[in-house]
Amino acid sequence: MKKVLLFILLPVLIYGQVGDDELVNPKDIIYDIVMDLRYSTPDHSFLNIPQIGEMELPKFYTANEGLVVLKLANALKLAQDSLRNIRNFNGNSYPAGIGIKIWDGYRPRAVQYLFWEIFPNSTYIANPSSGSLHNRGGAVDLTLIDLATGEELDMPTAFDDFSPQAAHGYSSLPQNVINNRELLRSIMVNVAGLNIYSSEWWHYSVPGASTYPLMDFQMK
Ligand SMILES: [Zn+2]
Repeated sequence: MKKVLLFILLPVLIYGQVGDDELVNPKDIIYDIVMDLRYSTPDHSFLNIPQIGEMELPKFYTANEGLVVLKLANALKLAQDSLRNIRNFNGNSYPAGIGIKIWDGYRPRAVQYLFWEIFPNSTYIANPSSGSLHNRGGAVDLTLIDLATGEELDMPTAFDDFSPQAAHGYSSLPQNVINNRELLRSIMVNVAGLNIYSSEWWHYSVPGASTYPLMDFQMK
């Protein structure tokens, strides 16, 4: 009888340990991914919002440690495995391939409240009362880099630039910038199976993320 019970419970126990919504550090799964959590630094675009003026902003994150749910980390691994094999794109050569640089992943819900207080614009900031997919570990903000030099590919805007130029549909851009944005999008959608966000070229989320729990702890 005990054996039968264990047989029934075992898959549940295993699933509980490696569930899709478990938070992991992408670096543990993708050896050459670059993490640059901009909200752990003063280098982010909240400072460029005119309404903020001279307001002194806190450091939003306590550490340059990024986390995402396992399902998203596995999807990003597929993307990076594909990008790493690119040697030529857009007239440039990439001797070590192209890679991903992550700017943001899991975000504590308390920080979401802070963002909303500073800039309550629902196009760019999810209302903390319902929470952001970042608060569930199911969204990621990223760009592409040259793996040989670490240099970012030219993209339409800087990270978290809250402007129409950040939208996927914005087309008054040099062709090479459009091509880079489209490369990122096509790998994230067609290889990684992620969802886009039409107002932000850097934001991707994993299907089903809205069912993952909202979380609120700081990285250490
Ligand atoms: Zn985002």
